[in-house]
Amino acid sequence: MKVINSVTEMQRTADELRAYGRKIGFVPTMGYLHDGHLSLVDEARKRADVVVMSVFVNPTQFAPTEDLTTYPRDIGRDLKLAEDRGVDIVFNPADKEMYPDEEFAFVEVERVSRLLEGEFRPTHFRGVASVVAKLFNIVKPHFAVFGQKDAQQAFVVRKMVRDLNFDVSIVVAPIVREEDGLAMSSRNVYLSETDRREATVLYRSLILARGLVREGTTDLVAVRSEMLKLISSGSKGKIDYIGFVNPETFERIEEIGKLDKALALLAVRFGKTRLIDNMYLEASRREI
Ligand code: AMP
Repeated sequence: MKVINSVTEMQRTADELRAYGRKIGFVPTMGYLHDGHLSLVDEARKRADVVVMSVFVNPTQFAPTEDLTTYPRDIGRDLKLAEDRGVDIVFNPADKEMYPDEEFAFVEVERVSRLLEGEFRPTHFRGVASVVAKLFNIVKPHFAVFGQKDAQQAFVVRKMVRDLNFDVSIVVAPIVREEDGLAMSSRNVYLSETDRREATVLYRSLILARGLVREGTTDLVAVRSEMLKLISSGSKGKIDYIGFVNPETFERIEEIGKLDKALALLAVRFGKTRLIDNMYLEASRREI
């Protein structure tokens, strides 16, 4: 496995691979790898000749009050896990390599960037969209794999690719969970023992929502209040939001209406650790 730190070397390598007709699959990450990240590598491996993974904790997607400095990092461990899983190239640039100037251009994906996660992290998605745009211009992949864990991020990236005509296909891979249902996340290591135990309530609330909708509930405000009850009775978690969107448009909805499915998304804070999760809610088949 090759490790590349320089932007120009990564670009030259990508040009060579493309000249030889190799298909480049790309998995962007912020490192501190877990099985969720590694499932994206498996997905990339299926259809790529060369799998490139980036490990870069992107400062521009963190607000000054957020956990940039304490974000977990262990590049030695990441390199070993990546190599064992079959990654061919790890792109691991320093901050200065990615952001040599003090001022720089940003990509704004309108509307979707401001709701749900965006209400609580107003500059987050512009940081994400911009760094993904940069990484696409550096790694020059034919396709890139993102996780459904960050459903809103995947939507923002797809929209950017579509609006700005990036010649990159976007693949979204399913959420990988711990045995008790908690979605894997680099931030889970910061949960206290009690919070870790209580955090399973997120998954359980989504399962509850899925069950209600499957059984015919169409009123998502009612679903939300059942989820709220479960989370607040089963944990000390502080809810930032529980929301529902049309997965095709990411418009907020309060009724299933004619949709086949809705996407339920939530963010809950346990102490300083903020967890997000989501699940599709398939509407029951109604006789006409
Ligand atoms: P991160 O390192 O948190 O920025 O995540 C890098 C990529 O891994 C993103 O596309 C995430 O959506 C994806 N990812 C993170 N956790 C999981 C998970 N539990 N299951 C599937 N994909 C994940």
